[in-house]
Amino acid sequence: MKINDLLNIANTYGSPVYVYDAQKIASQYNRLTNAFASVPKLRINYAMKALSNISILKLMKDLGAGLDTVSIQEVQLGLLAGFDPQQIIFTPNGVSMDEIEEAMRLGVQLNIDNLSFLEQFGTQHPEIPVCIRINPHVMAGGNSNISVGHIDSKFGISIHQIPHILRIVENTKMHINGIHMHTGSDILDIDVFLYAAEILFETAKHFKDLQFIDFGSGFKVPYKEGDIQTNIEELGERLSSRFADFCKEYGRNLTLAFEPGKFLVSEAGYFLVKVNVVKQTTSTVFAGIDSGFNHLIRPMFYGANHYIENISNPEGKNRFYSVVGYICETDTFASNRQIAEITEGDILCFHNAGAYCYTMASNYNSRLRPAEVLWQNGEAKLIRKAETFEDLLRGQIY
Ligand SMILES: *Cc1c(COP(=O)(O)O)cnc(C)c1O
Repeated sequence: MKINDLLNIANTYGSPVYVYDAQKIASQYNRLTNAFASVPKLRINYAMKALSNISILKLMKDLGAGLDTVSIQEVQLGLLAGFDPQQIIFTPNGVSMDEIEEAMRLGVQLNIDNLSFLEQFGTQHPEIPVCIRINPHVMAGGNSNISVGHIDSKFGISIHQIPHILRIVENTKMHINGIHMHTGSDILDIDVFLYAAEILFETAKHFKDLQFIDFGSGFKVPYKEGDIQTNIEELGERLSSRFADFCKEYGRNLTLAFEPGKFLVSEAGYFLVKVNVVKQTTSTVFAGIDSGFNHLIRPMFYGANHYIENISNPEGKNRFYSVVGYICETDTFASNRQIAEITEGDILCFHNAGAYCYTMASNYNSRLRPAEVLWQNGEAKLIRKAETFEDLLRGQIY
């Protein structure tokens, strides 16, 4: 997208506003499928918790993706967007058996992540095939909040409990049609990822009814110049050939599945905000914007570094700023950041605002959530209105 397109959107729809570039989503999707082009059966399930607007889900469906869901509400949104139940995998953690059975009644693929529920579910519904989430205890990720494969993680069934899984399967006569791992975000080291994949292959040999192996996600995308990212092409080359060998050994072609969120949508998103005030203090210059961590929590929550561009003055000379929000507690988007000279009223653009941005927004400080706009074929389309005061009152009894 060009700076002028973004400025026009801020003018038309006001600020703050989220913008998503459909073309970028498609190119990321194609990059992934191209990297695995030699795999006969490939399945990309979009992890919709990253960005769950129904228009985005429809876009994913048109690209040929399935869906990875983590709550019954995500399943319902996916069905509403037009996905077939078989195109949806339900990978919850710590939800009730009632919720899992509700998903079962909707006909989606279930992914079970603890022994207690595996035994209960297998006893009640031995005829319904399920996938099991394995924890290979491999640390692939960066930030400890998003690294979910380590030994103390609450996710998945430990690789050391395979004998117990096998006993449950034998006793209940249930069917395991898939095995899954998701070791967390920010995979940098392909050797580590492939090591975890080997553990999954070893595990897979124990199960005779498999249809797919799901390698999760966690592909790292660049946030700023010079950032390292997962080398998808190298991963594609190495994992594809290893997967082909495994399928030969296993006796038939299985589906290779991934469930990326961030990789597909992060770079497609822009968050446009307006500078309310430029405030000089004794030690810094603050740019106070018309938003806060209620709209974009990642810098405060994960220490995420979103590149910020002054699109009202792109050629201006760089100065150091601290970009802060309007929430009444520490609300810092960036400290000592070089940005083209800012004047009150300028529009700033946050990059990488597609994944885990709008979906993590809240009404804290009784603020309203912003609009979302889809940029497609050179046109801007409103795909969610900004909230109004009535939205804050909905459901309140007074
Ligand atoms: C969040 C999540 C993903 C997506 O992770 P990204 O880092 O956004 O690609 C995939 N699978 C599961 C089970 C998840 O919980």
